[in-house]
Parts: sequence; C-alpha cells; structure tokens
Amino acid sequence: EIVKIALDGPAGAGKSTVAKEVAKKLQMTYVDSGAMYRCVTFLAIKNHVAMQDEPGLFKLAKAMQLMFIPSEHGQGVQLDGVDVTDAIRTPEVGALVPLVANHALVRECLVEKQREIAHTAYHVVMDGRDIGTHVLPDATVKVYLTATLDVRAKRRHEELVRQGFTGTVSDVMKLLHERDEIDGRREIAPMRPASDAVILDTSCLAIHEVTAMVVSLCQA
Ligand code: C5P
Repeated sequence: EIVKIALDGPAGAGKSTVAKEVAKKLQMTYVDSGAMYRCVTFLAIKNHVAMQDEPGLFKLAKAMQLMFIPSEHGQGVQLDGVDVTDAIRTPEVGALVPLVANHALVRECLVEKQREIAHTAYHVVMDGRDIGTHVLPDATVKVYLTATLDVRAKRRHEELVRQGFTGTVSDVMKLLHERDEIDGRREIAPMRPASDAVILDTSCLAIHEVTAMVVSLCQA
C-alpha cells in the first residue's frame, strides 16, 4: 500500500523536524509545502513584486523550478539552481509569506505542484497547513501537531539564533502569533485540522516521542 502522511499545524509545532524523522524511519519522501510558499515570497522580494500583486506572484510561482535536495541535516531547497535553504527562513520572509499564501492563484499553482510531487514520489510525508483538508484529502494518516504559543516561540527562537538571529523570544512570539492569525483566517484552505486528523499536542513531548506516535499511526 502506498502511504501518504499529511502533517499540519501552526508554526513551530515541530512539523518539519518530525516529518524529516518519520521520512528517514519509514523511507519516505519529505515534502515541505511551506518551503514552496517561502520560495515565492523570496522571489517576490528579490524581484520587487508587491505582496498584493496576485498575477505577478502567480507568474513567479508558475515559473519557479524547485527541488528538494537530501542533505546532512535532512533536506535542502534549491530554487532555480541556487541553494536557498537558509535564505527562505529569514524573519523577513517569515513575516511576508502569509500574505503571499493568501492569494487564490498562488495557492492553486502550488497545490497542483504539491499533488504532482506526492503522486510521483510514492511514499510521502508532506507538512503544511491544508494538506489533510485540501491538498491530500485521501492521505493514509493525518496528524495535526500543536503546542502552546510559548513553547513554539521558544523552539523557533533557538532555531533562529543558530542562524544568527539576535531578537528575543517575545519578538518571535509576536511573529508566530501574527502568522497563525492570518493562516487561520484566510478564506481559501485556512489552517485547520481535518475532521479525520489525529490532534497531537507536542508541548510536553520530545521529538522522538512525537515521531514514534506518527510512525505507530502509520503501522496501525
Ligand atoms: O511551514 P512554514 O512555516 O514554512 O510555512 C510558511 C507559511 O507558508 C505559512 O505560515 C503559511 O502562510 C504558508 N503555508 C500555507 N499552506 C501550506 C504551507 C505553508 O499557506 N500548506
């Protein structure tokens, strides 16, 4: 049986870390759908395309060549032949990405690419906001990861500091909160657990515990 795992939830809940671990354990392809929205945002900043310019953003989304490259730390992102793994994770991109993700044309274009990758890749774990509800409604296993804002901000802060970020935990908390608000309120495919998703609060769980739970859901 071909296994597709949909892993959704707010920023900093541990989706990508868990997805990478699960992918390694079960030899699945990891698809980071957030990276695709981040790439469009990165290109918009670089090419001075406004965050309100839906047709302009759509053009960027349609034309971009995105590849997920296996790396030491799990996975890198290559955009039009350039490694953008770190460049798409800056606070600037993070703050603007929900505005880009708000546009119907951009979403349709990226959802099509996501379904195509999932279709070609065989066993897949895909993380995002609307994977269980919209992108892969027939996924074998759907998990919605959450954690308190406090815990999520601390986790994300640690990650950002390793990349040279000098702000405080409360700066990060504000950024995460604003992003969740927009992601949860948008009209098209808002961030939401699917009705058949397992909801896992990871606030008090270690990564290996969450990974083990997701793996056991796949083997159930
Ligand atoms: O997962 P990540 O934090 O990298 O996602 C960045 C942003 O991309 C989200 O805050 C959201 O605005 C957008 N996104 C989305 N739908 C997805 C994945 C990400 O709208 N499936």
